[in-house]
Amino acid sequence: MPEQTLTINKTRLEERIHKLAEIGRIGETGVSRLALSKEDKQAVEIVKGWMEEAGLAARIDHFGNLIGRLEGKKAEAPVLMLGSHIDSQPYGGRFDGVIGVLGAIEAVQTLQENSVIPDMPIEVAAFCDEEGARFNKGLFGVRGILGKLEEGELDRKDKNGITRRDALLSFGCDPERFKESEYAPGSISAYLELHIEQGPVLEAKDAPVGIVTGISGPLWLTVELEGFAGHAGSVPMHMRQDALVGAAKVIVALNDLASEDPSAPTVGTVGSLKVFPDSRNIIPEKVMFTVDLRDIQMERRNIIENQLRKRLHLICEDHGLTYTVSEDTNSEPRYCSEDIMKTMRAASKEIGLNAPELMSGPFHDALAMSYECDYGMIFVRCKDGISHNPKEFSTMEDISLGTELLYRTALKLAVK
Ligand SMILES: [Zn+2]
Repeated sequence: MPEQTLTINKTRLEERIHKLAEIGRIGETGVSRLALSKEDKQAVEIVKGWMEEAGLAARIDHFGNLIGRLEGKKAEAPVLMLGSHIDSQPYGGRFDGVIGVLGAIEAVQTLQENSVIPDMPIEVAAFCDEEGARFNKGLFGVRGILGKLEEGELDRKDKNGITRRDALLSFGCDPERFKESEYAPGSISAYLELHIEQGPVLEAKDAPVGIVTGISGPLWLTVELEGFAGHAGSVPMHMRQDALVGAAKVIVALNDLASEDPSAPTVGTVGSLKVFPDSRNIIPEKVMFTVDLRDIQMERRNIIENQLRKRLHLICEDHGLTYTVSEDTNSEPRYCSEDIMKTMRAASKEIGLNAPELMSGPFHDALAMSYECDYGMIFVRCKDGISHNPKEFSTMEDISLGTELLYRTALKLAVK
């Protein structure tokens, strides 16, 4: 698409993306902005300033969300919400979440510059702790406003022993006042999120932008194995209860199970592992590791989970280990609103885009929103499908097209 047909301001958007990438920057292109950290706070403050420039009334709520609001003709009408997140993985990239927040601000600023007054209020949200990297449970802020936090979440600790409660307090939030920041059921009419694809599909189809049809649900487990410590030099092999050997076999089993059907989009990952007592001459007594299992089909995911649990049981029997499995997150696939997809198709035709439709393997803030209201997502092509990595990259051309599509979709939904 020729650039002159863009309504949004590509230069302004690019400048903001670059400025935000400086906060918590690691190396040339990496970003580390853990939720509720001082880098996160800095980022929230700078983005708040851009929201105000865009004509939004911006506030930080008690969950640590940054929310900007543009009033519409009917102040009481359910809100059209746009957003994503600006927290990152400890070794993340510049675009994940960021383009959804800055793209939404750009879309709303463009509405304002075109003197559009929406029928309903429009809000832009930068949700707190989408990534879940720090407290090992994500989608915190978005679940917060929907009244969906679970027991004990505030007591979860980060690697330094800081609880979520303390992190919120030092961020300036007050967990005692969560209720004030919740949204009543029915007060959000629809949610739109722009995000990098984090996968290789659009690149393979040579398409800058895609329309998401749904999000496959993640299952997050924490597995703990316990054996018996002993001297690495003296305990004979057949007498050992080595928790790490057991864990290694379970990890391989997960990898095999998730790879069994190459035509399925199933993915299984162990990304974090702790060994106790973690010493070179002691047989590992305890091992804790995480499991991340995803599939678009719930049935297939359940089968794999059951097989994994059976294998875990047998492996532990073999090695004289005891085990516990706790479930941290269990989401089912959630499909996008057909109406919003239709609107997106029409908007993409207007700008000469032929946007392919695809499922999302990763989850997003939109996953939590899907339980509250209709939702739609736009994906932007990213290089080699890489994300959660400093190498994550999307071109400004593609990001601008995605933002233009977001703007046009919001316009169609906001002005009937
Ligand atoms: Zn993200």
